[in-house]
Amino acid sequence: MEITTETSQPAHAYQKAMQLSQNGHQVGATPVPIPVPVPVPLVVGSQILIWKQDPTVTALGVRPTFIPSLILDGPRDARINTVLPGTTPVHGNTKRDFIFAPGTAEFDCAHTFAIVRETLTMYQRALGGAPLPWAWNTAGNIDAINVFPQAGVTPNAFYSRAEKALKFFFFVPTGASQPIFTCRSLDIVAHECGHAVLDGLKPGWLGPSSPQTGGLHEAFGDITALFLSLHQLDQVEAAIALTKANLHGPNFLAALAEQFGAGLGLPQGLRNADNDLKLSQVGNEVHAISQVFTGGVYDTLADIFAFERQRQATVKDPARVLLEVASSLLKVLMEGIRKAPASNASYADVVNGMLSASQAQGEPPIYRTFLRSRFTFREVVVSPTPLTAMLEGRMEMNNPGFTDGKDDTKLEAHRHPSDRASQDRSRCCGTMQRPEFVLADAAKLQSGQAMTDEDLLSKEAAELHKRFN
Ligand SMILES: [Zn+2]
Repeated sequence: MEITTETSQPAHAYQKAMQLSQNGHQVGATPVPIPVPVPVPLVVGSQILIWKQDPTVTALGVRPTFIPSLILDGPRDARINTVLPGTTPVHGNTKRDFIFAPGTAEFDCAHTFAIVRETLTMYQRALGGAPLPWAWNTAGNIDAINVFPQAGVTPNAFYSRAEKALKFFFFVPTGASQPIFTCRSLDIVAHECGHAVLDGLKPGWLGPSSPQTGGLHEAFGDITALFLSLHQLDQVEAAIALTKANLHGPNFLAALAEQFGAGLGLPQGLRNADNDLKLSQVGNEVHAISQVFTGGVYDTLADIFAFERQRQATVKDPARVLLEVASSLLKVLMEGIRKAPASNASYADVVNGMLSASQAQGEPPIYRTFLRSRFTFREVVVSPTPLTAMLEGRMEMNNPGFTDGKDDTKLEAHRHPSDRASQDRSRCCGTMQRPEFVLADAAKLQSGQAMTDEDLLSKEAAELHKRFN
């Protein structure tokens, strides 16, 4: 297999990171007198070099990231294991750092591990810090998830409960000479890891159910990619600078999986979180439905940011405001998901959960006005009062108490005939098309059990036994 050659910028960043890494502590250097003892920092944690977005987003390139927990050779820890036959275990250096040249298999292993680790940590922090289970972590099972950065050749990636795995594939796009590795996209790794996290929280949501439940899973993957970027200080600052603090301007945060999208002829990325789709425009196609929810969350984020940016203009930099706003919105979203039903959840269930979580967390009423207006506009919920202020562009952006009607936390769902249709998953990512989730028994799936390949073939095998007897 041929490995892509890299542009000079990531190579430069890599060399710089190497120098920094090597010069940090010089072994055997002459001691400098220090009059008083210094506090000893906790010697746990690794530096890992990662792609900030993917190899085509050259403005961002690569950077070292710090994972503040123990990482063993693999890389692996108690929750995540990396598998690439012939390459793993990848060994960290004497300081437990994983710094490799971009484009190598070792880099891919370390990068992919780091993104999965950061995604899991982000959600654990959003929900208070306790470990979040993978779907199989029941009844004392503590098995880690296995991450395959180069699982084979196909333009796809998926999460599998039966294999306890995240698998990232590579492919050569038509007319191109170099392969695209899906593992090198922060968005794709975060998206698939999002499926795994959500499957741990809501094991009943991946099976055959209403189109919106499938849409929640796909949207959660994209939202994971968006929020993982929004939790990285350098990316937030870059987004603020590139958009001049207007989240509705073209930007790499809203564009998802840029390199993969370009490989498939989609210049704006695989999907765009900054869209205006409504439920009546998307039928039962889960990939399209998911964009309605992702878009509603993105719009809400942009509204809250616009409000807080103005409110805190004299005391905080816009990048810091965006970082804080994203962090609090993610907490509200996760509470909304936690409160939603174990099966057949609708968008309205999650939005209502978010409204009550926002109130419980003491957020100003205007936050809920944004949430209610955006999801009413997208035909997810029915607002008890008309959206006059939003539609006429007269939101009182200086008034935290602005409600534009009533500060209601339980809204009626907007009903669509397609709510009762089967999910069309034909344009979804690999996870949603896995036979283990498409053909699964809903009750079995909800209990956290996995459907293996043998389970899938068992009915036909029994028939064959009868025939050939
Ligand atoms: Zn997906």
